[in-house]
Amino acid sequence: MVIYKQRHPRHCQPMSLWFFSTVGGTMPKYLIVGGVAGGATTAARLRRNDESAEIVLFEKGEHISYANCGLPYYLGGEITDRDKLFVQTPETFRATLNIDVRVHSEVVAIDIGKKTITVKRSPEGTTYTETYDKLVLSPGAEPVRPPIAGIDTPGIFTLRNVADTDKIKKFIDTNHPRRVVVIGAGFIGLEMAENLHKRGLQVTIVEMAAQVMVMLDHEIAAEVHQHFKVKGVECYLGDGVQSLKPQGYSIKMKLSSGRDLETDMVILSIGVRPDSALAAAAGLAIGPTKGIRVNEYLQTSDPDVYAVGDAIEFPSPITGKPTITYLAGPANKQGRICADNLVFGPKTKYKGAIATAVAKVFDLTVASTGVSEKLLKKEGIPFRSCVIHGSSHAGYYPGATAMTLKLLFSPEGKIWGAQGVGYDGVDKRIDMIAVLLGKNGTVADLTEVEHAYAPPYSSAKDPVNVLGFVAENILEGRTTPVRWDELTAWKDALLLDIRTPDEFGIGTLPGAVNIPLPLLRERLGTLPKNRRILVFCGVGLRSYLAERILKQNGFDVASLSGGYKTWEHATMKQSNEDVFARDFIGKDSRIYQTDPETTDPTLPSLVKVLEVDAVGLQCPGPILKLKTAMDKVSPGTRLRETASDPGFANDVASWAKMTGNTLVELTQDKGRIVAVVEKGTQQPASPSTEGSNTTLIVFSDDMDKALASLVIANGAVSAGKKVTMFYTFWGLNILKRLKKPVVKKDLLGRMFGLMLAPNLHGLKLSKLHMAGMGTWMMKGRMKSLKIDSLQEMLETALKSGVRMVACTMSMDVMGVKMEELIEGVEAGGVAAMLEAADSSRATLFI
Ligand code: FAD
Repeated sequence: MVIYKQRHPRHCQPMSLWFFSTVGGTMPKYLIVGGVAGGATTAARLRRNDESAEIVLFEKGEHISYANCGLPYYLGGEITDRDKLFVQTPETFRATLNIDVRVHSEVVAIDIGKKTITVKRSPEGTTYTETYDKLVLSPGAEPVRPPIAGIDTPGIFTLRNVADTDKIKKFIDTNHPRRVVVIGAGFIGLEMAENLHKRGLQVTIVEMAAQVMVMLDHEIAAEVHQHFKVKGVECYLGDGVQSLKPQGYSIKMKLSSGRDLETDMVILSIGVRPDSALAAAAGLAIGPTKGIRVNEYLQTSDPDVYAVGDAIEFPSPITGKPTITYLAGPANKQGRICADNLVFGPKTKYKGAIATAVAKVFDLTVASTGVSEKLLKKEGIPFRSCVIHGSSHAGYYPGATAMTLKLLFSPEGKIWGAQGVGYDGVDKRIDMIAVLLGKNGTVADLTEVEHAYAPPYSSAKDPVNVLGFVAENILEGRTTPVRWDELTAWKDALLLDIRTPDEFGIGTLPGAVNIPLPLLRERLGTLPKNRRILVFCGVGLRSYLAERILKQNGFDVASLSGGYKTWEHATMKQSNEDVFARDFIGKDSRIYQTDPETTDPTLPSLVKVLEVDAVGLQCPGPILKLKTAMDKVSPGTRLRETASDPGFANDVASWAKMTGNTLVELTQDKGRIVAVVEKGTQQPASPSTEGSNTTLIVFSDDMDKALASLVIANGAVSAGKKVTMFYTFWGLNILKRLKKPVVKKDLLGRMFGLMLAPNLHGLKLSKLHMAGMGTWMMKGRMKSLKIDSLQEMLETALKSGVRMVACTMSMDVMGVKMEELIEGVEAGGVAAMLEAADSSRATLFI
């Protein structure tokens, strides 16, 4: 039995034999540029391969072999001992590996022909040359500093190395900033956001893209966006920084949207680029990504010069396109291969990186491997995808937490990539998939992964197996998945919500009808055979069961991938704006940050509190458990339910409102949501059956009628009613954005656009408009009486949960596009209106 196979018989040869045979008898001299991940690894392995070689390591900074991945955690106080950041020092490297380490030594030129480098010592500024037999470049990547006005204002930092870390730490310790803006929401930006938040700073994230972490797809990133809301982190997405300027002790920042921000410090983290200028100046080939081009043996265009790490570009094993992988794992592995090829000859091949990465973002773990849906679309590579919501381990064993996994795969079943977000065990799942992906694994392989299972660690069917099962069902045509962003193509379909009436009451897709799964078989006769049906549930499991029933009964049916949960996360408002708008410190003498009147009441000690454990239960489990427990207790009793399903935070608030109970306290920490709900004295029945809601059909765009409709809506919602406002024809003008994007319209659409009110500021009184005079007087009078303006009422209604539906038929007729309407508005047909009206006690036509 072969238990170990040597990859290269040459490894058995005396050290440097290959080198002697190629360069003729002298001791080889290796020079290495860059002394951290790639450079230090190469140097150490070189010495282990060749005891007699001369090895010189040049590092322009003060430190070598430090943990740059640990720097954010040192700044956050998680790593308390600065010395622990240094894996090796120049002294230990010299002593243990006999390597000549030269710090403060920048390599400023390479002469490929003469095989020399020029080294500049700092702070002296003197230079000298050094000859080499073989040269290794591992200069890393440098943070991008965009040419924004005011970018050099004091208090603006980038983070690459220990020197940067020391500067940031000193600034914080000396100036005690209260606010920080992190520009750029990649890995490092988000790690800094978390760590500075941990140090007590108010954190604002500004990201030019519509989502954080570019390697994720929107629905996975959306869970991170929603987490910021829980953590009280301000976040502006789809907005860039236009200018920065000092203002007293703080920094003023203007965003592209026109918004002004003020902060005490800025972390600039908008990305990195390969530090390839030295290689380029030496005439070495540079690729389209601006990385140093290397072959499979990590040789540059000159065979005696090797390169590794963040500065190299290499074809992606998945797309075949040149890519740069800014990750420590690949840099270290390349260093090892490089050292072997230097000593034993170019034999060991580097296969490229599949970009497996993980980050801690507050309580969440976010991880990915391979390529995203975005990239597959960009490259025109055919793919299929599925999203599942699982648990870190068996739901019945305490401590299970929710996780979302997404799989991308080819129509033939080859794995393209995976992404995950959750609280516990996400890294393990992504690593399992990465191993298969690296070996050209398939969906079938995922179904077969044999994992170590016991209830505290996993389930008998691990989420990775479940991903495989779902993907296999898709490939076999057993299920037809519809992604959350494909819903518009299903406008004509019957949206069938097969959850319980309680879940349906909390929130559903616009226009959906409810048939709970247990009743589906007996109601088959009520469903149309000549119309497509899109069936959905909370997370996609029950909808699959329903889809199978319907398919086998001859219905044209598909299922919403990831269920209502994925759709809701992805379509909710993503940015988290103006979180610190109520922060008066520095603006006036009031030393508080929240309105004391709105702070949570503490629990009176005499109130009876019963514990309900819903940890590990998926939606709707936590709500159903709460309902069952609530049914058994008397009014005034409080239930403290602990759940792990992130959707519970939203659901419990709506449920309490809907059922006449009071949500007394809601906290969320490390994947645990704890809600304290007090049983109300009057328990209204389920809104879906009792008709206690209010529906307003807003047809008019007269200012007074718009006002009246919003006054009624805000009043009804504050009375605990579910309010739907259905905007049709001229009423649509009330919902138009102040700054509308440019959208493509036909001639009639453009003409209507010119004739209609541009937004609610253009509305007129139905009577006494008097060429604008009356409308102007009305606005002035409302202001003097401190009555909210139309805009404020609209914002309040949206914030309070009033559901606003724009009539799709009127939009089509009047050439109004969804992009022109304010955020938070849904598109819906007459079914949405009728469904809302059916469950309403009052339906008003305005
Ligand atoms: P580096 O490790 O950056 O080393 C390059 C060195 O070369 C630098 O010290 C530089 O001073 C020196 N140098 C450059 N030019 C010259 C010259 N001309 N002469 C002499 N010296 C020169 N990756 C992960 O996988 N996981 C993480 O969690 C993670 N976290 C990170 C956190 C931070 C704050 C940072 C900055 C990076 C993080 N990374 C992480 C990325 C990871 O550190 C890099 O991918 C890895 O260090 C790249 O190794 P490298 O050798 O190419 O470059």
